[in-house]
Formats: sequence, C-alpha cells, structure tokens
Amino acid sequence: MAEQLSLWDLVGEEGAGGACSPDGMEPLRPAGATPDASSEGAVAPDGTVSSRGAGRTRAAAGLVPDTVTASGERRLAQGSEPVCGYVSVVVDVPSRALSDPFAYAVPASFDEEAVPGAIVLVSFHRRMVAGYVVMRASELAELPGAAGLAPERVLPVRSVLAERAFGPVSAQLAFWMSREYVASVAECLRLFLPPKATPRVRKLEDGSYEVERPKTKEVHERWVTLTDEGRGYRPAVNAHRQRQLMEALSCGPVTTRELNFLYSSMSATIRTLEKKGIVAIEERRAWRGVSSEEHRLSSARAQVPESLTEGQRAALAAIERARKAEAGDVVVIDGVTGSGKTEVYLSAIEPVLAAGKSACVLVPEISLTAQTVGRFRSRFGDAVAVFHSRLSDGERLDQWDMVRSGAARVVVGARSALFCPYRELGIIIIDEEHEQSYKQGSSPRYHARDVAAEMARRYGCPLVLGSATPSSEALERCRRGAHRGQAWTRVEMPERPGGAVLPRIVVADLRREFSGGSRSIFSRPLHDALMGIVERREKAVLLHNRRGFAPFLMCRECGCVPTCKHCSTALTYHERTHTLECHTCGSVYRVRPYPAPGSRCPQCGSPYLAKMGLGTQQVEDALRQLLPSDVAVIRMDADSTRGKDGHARLLEEFDAAECAVLLGTQMIAKGLDFPEVTLVGVINADYALKMPDFRASVRAYDLLEQVAGRAGRGERPGEVIIQTYLPHDPVIRAVASHDRSVFLSHDLAMRLDAQYPPYVRLVNVVCRGRSEERTRSFANRFATEVRRVLKLRAPASAGRGSGLVVGGLPVVLGPASCVIERAKDRYRFHFLVKAPLDYDVSSAIAEALARVGEERGISISVDVDPYDLM
Ligand code: ADP
Ligand code: ZN
Ligand code: ZN
Repeated sequence: MAEQLSLWDLVGEEGAGGACSPDGMEPLRPAGATPDASSEGAVAPDGTVSSRGAGRTRAAAGLVPDTVTASGERRLAQGSEPVCGYVSVVVDVPSRALSDPFAYAVPASFDEEAVPGAIVLVSFHRRMVAGYVVMRASELAELPGAAGLAPERVLPVRSVLAERAFGPVSAQLAFWMSREYVASVAECLRLFLPPKATPRVRKLEDGSYEVERPKTKEVHERWVTLTDEGRGYRPAVNAHRQRQLMEALSCGPVTTRELNFLYSSMSATIRTLEKKGIVAIEERRAWRGVSSEEHRLSSARAQVPESLTEGQRAALAAIERARKAEAGDVVVIDGVTGSGKTEVYLSAIEPVLAAGKSACVLVPEISLTAQTVGRFRSRFGDAVAVFHSRLSDGERLDQWDMVRSGAARVVVGARSALFCPYRELGIIIIDEEHEQSYKQGSSPRYHARDVAAEMARRYGCPLVLGSATPSSEALERCRRGAHRGQAWTRVEMPERPGGAVLPRIVVADLRREFSGGSRSIFSRPLHDALMGIVERREKAVLLHNRRGFAPFLMCRECGCVPTCKHCSTALTYHERTHTLECHTCGSVYRVRPYPAPGSRCPQCGSPYLAKMGLGTQQVEDALRQLLPSDVAVIRMDADSTRGKDGHARLLEEFDAAECAVLLGTQMIAKGLDFPEVTLVGVINADYALKMPDFRASVRAYDLLEQVAGRAGRGERPGEVIIQTYLPHDPVIRAVASHDRSVFLSHDLAMRLDAQYPPYVRLVNVVCRGRSEERTRSFANRFATEVRRVLKLRAPASAGRGSGLVVGGLPVVLGPASCVIERAKDRYRFHFLVKAPLDYDVSSAIAEALARVGEERGISISVDVDPYDLM
C-alpha cells in the first residue's frame, strides 16, 4: 500500500501561500461590538438614506479608556476640553453591520483638523478604534438623524490621526459602493485613502492602546543649481573638482546623490561653492516610481498622426459632446484591434488638460503598462502618474501624492487608479472595457466600469469605454441608449488607419491532423507558417492559454487524478520542478520525476499513467527543437515574469530581436503593438472554450480576437492560425470570418433563454465554513430569508412568479455546492439571485443579511454582478 502511495511520492507538503491568489473572502467577525438593536439606518453625506430605513447617526456607547499610547500622535484630547462641534464618524470595524456613522464631539483643540475626510481615533464599545469623519456640524441636531441624542452621551474625538485623506465626493461614492455591493462603508472608504494609510489600532497588554502609523515615508532630494552670479564663474585652472561640478551643472540642476555617484564625493566642493554663492542647494520631494522603462521600447513612442481616420473623428466628436453636456455620458468605442483607439484616448485628454482638469485611464493588465504608459508619457511627459501592482509602497505613495499635489494630471493604471485624489476629474477612460480584471475579487466586489459610470455622473465628466470586443453589458446599454439616467452611445471604428488590413485567419482542424497520423504540437499550416517567419526574418506571437486547464497526471486505467488535500481542485504537474501544485491554495507536493519506474496509481495501482494537457514549458521546448538557434524564443507566463521588471525585460528582448517567437499565456494577447509581427498562432483554442461558466464562450472569443489583433499591425499583412478540435463552434467561426455577429447572436440568444446578464442582474452569495453541515444549513437559512424579503417587496398585483425574470420578479436559485466544493479546508455553498435590471437587489440582500445575522465560523461573500461563479 505504502509503495503504491509513493506514486505521487508525496514527499511532503510545502505549505500554502505564494503563487496562489487568496480568494479574498473576509470572515464576518463575530460581533464584539454589536450595534444598538434599537438603532435604525443612517444618512449618507449625500443625504440619501441607507437601506435600513429612517436615518439617524447613533451615539457610540462605552467609556473612554483611561490610557491611550498613540505613538506618533501629537496630542490627545483632554476629557475636560470644551466642545466646539460634532462629527459623524464611520468606524473602521470589520463588520457590515457597522456601516452607519456614529456621532462624536469635537474638542476645541481639534477644531481645525476634525473635518470631513480626516481619520480620527475614537472610543467605541470600550475600545479604541480608527474612524473616518464624513460630516461635521456645529450643533448635534444638525447631523442627520442625531436630533434625538443627548449631548452628554456623546463621546469626544480622542485624536486626529490624519488630516483630510479624502474629499466629499469620495465619501459619497463610498456610501454608494457600500449600498451597491453590500459592503461596509469603512472598507469602501479605505479604497480612497493614501497607500498604506489605513491606521491600525492595537490594544497592548497593559490595557493601553497603540496606533500603528504607516511606515512609508516620503523622500527628499537635494538639488544643486547654478545661481545667477554663478553662471559667469570661471574656476581656477587647478580647481579640478570645481570645473567638473560647473560642467555637470551647465545643463541644469542635478541632485547631490547623482553628483556624488558620478564623481565620488563632491560634497566638499558643493559646500565651498555654496558659500561663495555660486551654487544653491534646494530640497525637493522625490517622485519615486517614474521609471525610464516606458521610454525604452521603440514602439512606445506616440507620434501625433498626420490625420485621423473617419472613425477616430466620430469617436472624438462623441466624446466632446459628452464633455460639453457635463452629465456623465458614456461613449463606447467599438473599434477593431489596431483601429487607433489609443490615439483617440490621447486626443480626448488634450482638451481636458487644457481646461485644467485631470484624466483617469484604466488599462487591464500589467503586460500593458510598459508600452501603453510609454505612449502616454511621450505625449504628456512627466504629468503622467502610473499605478500598477509592481510598485513598491514608496513608489505608490509618491505617485499618489503626485496626483494629489496636481503635479500629475494624467493617471494610467489598473482598476484601483479610479480612487486617486484627482483634483477635478475631467474624463475617465477604460481601455479593453470587457476585461474581467476590472472586477475586484475581494470585498468590496466592485466593477470598475460601474463605479466609473457613477463617478462620471457625480463629476459630470465623460466616461469612454474602448474595446475591440465590448462587453454584452455595454452593448445592451448602448442599444437601450441609456442606463441609470446616463446616455450610452456606441461609436464604431471598423478600419485600421493607413489601410492596414485585418489578418487572414486559418483554422487548423486538429481532428484531421490526428487522424492523418500527426502527433506534433504544430499542425502542418502552423509549421509551414513558422518556417516562413524564419525565412523572411519576421516575428510571431504564439498563444498557449493553459489557464484553468493546466497539465495534470491521470491514471489511464481508472481515470484517477490527484487532487489537493485541502481543496477539490486537480493538482497541476510542473515538470521542471517535479511538483504537483494546487492553484487554489498554493500547496506544493513533491513527486518523483515522471515517468519514474515503479510509479503507480494511488487508487488502482496501475502503472499506466498519462500526462494530460500541455504546458507552455513543453511548447517552448518543442519550438526550440523546431526552429534554428538564431531565432529568439521568448516565453512569457506567470513563471517567467516574476520580479519587478519581468514583463518589460521580456518585451524589450522581443523588441530588440531580429527574428523571434513570443510564446505566452493570455498575458500576451492584449495591447502589444509590434508592427513586425506577421504571424499569430493559437496552440489549442479549446482550452478557453470548455469552462463551466456562461461567460466561457465570450471570454474565448475576446481572447482569440485580441490575440489575432496582434498580427499585421504594420505594413506587412498578417496571418492567424487557430488550432482546434472544434472548428464548427460559433466562436471559432466568428473569429475566422471577422464577423462578430455570428457569435454574438448565438451567445445572446443563449443568455436570454437561460436568463443571464446582460438581460438580468445576478448576485452570487457564497458561504464558507469548516463544517459541511453547518455551512449548508446557514446557506439554506440565508437563501430562505432572501426569498422572504423578495416576496415581501413584491407588489401585491404580482402573481405567483412564473420564474420569468426579464420584466418579472427576482428568483433565488439554490443553495447548492459550488463548482469548487471545497477550498482551503472550507466547504463552499452558494445561491444565485437573478433580478430584473432595474430591481434594487443589493438592498434586498443587505436586509436579509441583517436578519439572519452573522454566524461564528462561517464567512459570507456577496458578489453583485459576479464574474466568477465557480
Ligand atoms: P488600438 O488601440 O485600437 O489597438 P492603436 O491606437 O494601438 O490601436 O493604433 C494602432 C497603430 O496605428 C499604432 O501604431 C498607431 O500609432 C497607429 N495609428 C493610430 N491612429 C492613426 C492615424 N490616424 N494615422 C496613422 N496611424 C495611426
Ligand atoms: Zn488508477
Ligand atoms: Zn489546495
């Protein structure tokens, strides 16, 4: 038995963490600070009443703790100080139930700092917590809903931890997000704070409290400049050092750090000349995070084109109309790959900057950054701030401050860049609008497209959504012409500028290849096309998307596949390290090299084991065997792009090579603009098609369309070869014929029939817990409560629901086990709510959640408009 088990040779589990992404579910903390049962809802700063009914700011209960060690605090309020006003404070306690603001008094010594947007330290249910001021009034009764409170019950603000961290519109947005996504206001407000600014308040053993302050600090640099009189200064002939310094400064100011680096210790010389008044030293804030990498790529320059295409002019006209209307209107640019959408973004930003306002540009993937950012920098120079996940804390802080100070008025970044402290937002642009990465996977589970639309409405600025494959949600809103009171317009850009033609598409039928006896990874057409690239010294991009369908080991006799001990997912076989890895929890199991003699199936003992699936590493090996050694083969996937500049380095290599093949996962499909690429190959399109999700085919279509768009962007025509076992699938047929309607009509009919978005709204509620029974029963109770709330809200005229959602009543499906039944030792159950588009489904779920209450050991995630249903 032991011998058989040693097949996978579970030498040991190397622990979770690392590679896998946490699924981000937040436990609902057992209520240590239960809200007053008698209290009702609350009023948001914009005057709207939260879901729980009539509004009132509550008084915080509890005594003021005696001692507070607030390290780094300037001072604490004294109990006896006179009160000079009142504030509504959202306490930062991880519970959905505590979203409503509480009233606190402002001691006279904090009069100036305790303003909306400030972070304060307050006493709450006998402990000290951080909180966010969302409103201020001189009389208690002026705070919405606080009229009934007795002033002597209201506790004082104990300290101000940070001055104004967010503005009034941000506070309103946080309240809106909290309602829309059934999340606490505090966690929504946190999105708007400076990086790493969330204060942590800890209770020490002696009962006192300590506030942990962010460790990230700004840095200053000393700049050396020639003074006016210094300009004419001629150092003595033998003053060698002085001559060097004068020469270095002749072109402009230089930092002392650079001077000392270039000339090894220049300090004494600088001091001497400073005394003489020849140079001046000035301290300036250093802006970390502005790297030169974006300038280096040859393709990253954005020359202004001589003339715009007809489509580009139409798009710009629509954006200009939306800008003038100041109503937050939305323009969807439906433009084929390479049609010049980025050029439209650049041109649309110009009048915004001229009007003194800021621009927010969201791009989906890290792989986009180097090239896209380069194009923005070459047009707008240093006024561009950048946010991506590879920034260090210090860089992030500096980029954030560049925006707050107004030094940067164009921000290019991932979805979180929405929450920067813009000084007057004048336009929001979302590139590749259909991308799933705009949906946040942990609470608050917002979608950047929808938050951006709400921001556009509140700022009265246009929202531009660009894509070669717009989401069905965006298309449906354009078809209706409006959504939530904002106009939605679609502009088509069907042509590439300069007459560049769309690439020719070839579908290679793998069934025929196989029956023809071929066992190669490369079909005949792909093989020949690669040889053509070598001959003509051109470049190719090969997509191998193994996401969700990674290589694994399978027993050919009993079909057994090793799964993770903690999760119900199949383990992925990593050939180079001889490990089986769980991509859900990150556990690593070491195995014997395969095929090792004596390996046997743990279930049936069979020696016949097969490696199923094909990883990028294997394709890379096969490519190197196929191609002559002077052709660069560059592999780009999660493994090869670790490290800070991983992406940029590989792209530079590809850029610089004379003849090269770039092989990668879906990260290569988007945004890359290399005119020399004439061939795109898809190793196996079927991986993307076969996922158990109603969005699987649209995702496959997007991916294929995007990667096909990498070919033929320059003068030479492009060719795309798609290998598949399913040549008749509507997705493949649509891509092959450059006719999206083939796929869209099929997909939309399916969605209407099965009642999925864009025709209805979905909410996915997942409950997780260690005990299968308790989790199941909790999910049952929660679902029952949701059904009850929905029924209570249904108009009396409504008949018994026929189950029709479109134009009808919401329905609850489930609970049932999730597709991934178990992850990280937690059982997972979920139910789905389908509701008509205009139905306020969020508040119904919030109400049901408040009724069932929180349960120890069970975590709940409410995902409104979900993308991940597994
Ligand atoms: P998209 O973002 O739609 O994929 P890009 O903005 O990357 O397209 O444009 C594709 C290529 O066409 C780029 O190299 C760009 O510089 C060029 N381009 C864009 N607009 C024009 C134009 N009006 N005239 C000539 N070239 C253009
Ligand atoms: Zn077996
Ligand atoms: Zn696992």
